[in-house]
Amino acid sequence: MSKILPLVISPDPLLKEISLPVEKFDNELKTLVDDMFLTMYANDGIGLAGVQVGVLKRVLVMDLDYEEDEQEKFKHSHAGNHHNCHHVFVKNTNPLCFINPQIIDSSDDKTEFKEGCLSFPQARAEVIRPMKVKVKYFDLTGKEKLEEMEGLMAICIQHEIDHLNGITFVDRISKLKREMILRKMKKLNR
Ligand SMILES: [Zn+2]
Repeated sequence: MSKILPLVISPDPLLKEISLPVEKFDNELKTLVDDMFLTMYANDGIGLAGVQVGVLKRVLVMDLDYEEDEQEKFKHSHAGNHHNCHHVFVKNTNPLCFINPQIIDSSDDKTEFKEGCLSFPQARAEVIRPMKVKVKYFDLTGKEKLEEMEGLMAICIQHEIDHLNGITFVDRISKLKREMILRKMKKLNR
């Protein structure tokens, strides 16, 4: 059974750590990825890096395009007592997993997008990034892949790969906005 893992929230210093490459494509990795998907869906995220659940491994999960399953949620909430049960109610999922991802090329053209992050609850800020990227990564079975990405997918994977290098989206905005968000996070965590 998959578990919803606790999120690492700013200003936790773990978010500045550099994650290590995955070497073994084993069951432990599969379990981690399953738990990360569940955690991402449970928190309405579209991307999640290992470090955000306290695991310093170069593992990312993403799903840019899924829906809440209101019907299942309703049925479940009326079926009795379900304290602490790890159910999430999503449908039409498109789960993507990237192990040891690396950006090997990026476009000169830039794009601006209002980003959020599960490690910065409620904070959002415009971030400028390359519009297209070419990414090399491994899938869960250890097979090497190469993919060109654009649109939301390109934005999301750049945000998530940043996490693996100890960088968060607030490191890519103006100092003024960054300090505003960091102050807010400190208050939330008090
Ligand atoms: Zn993030």
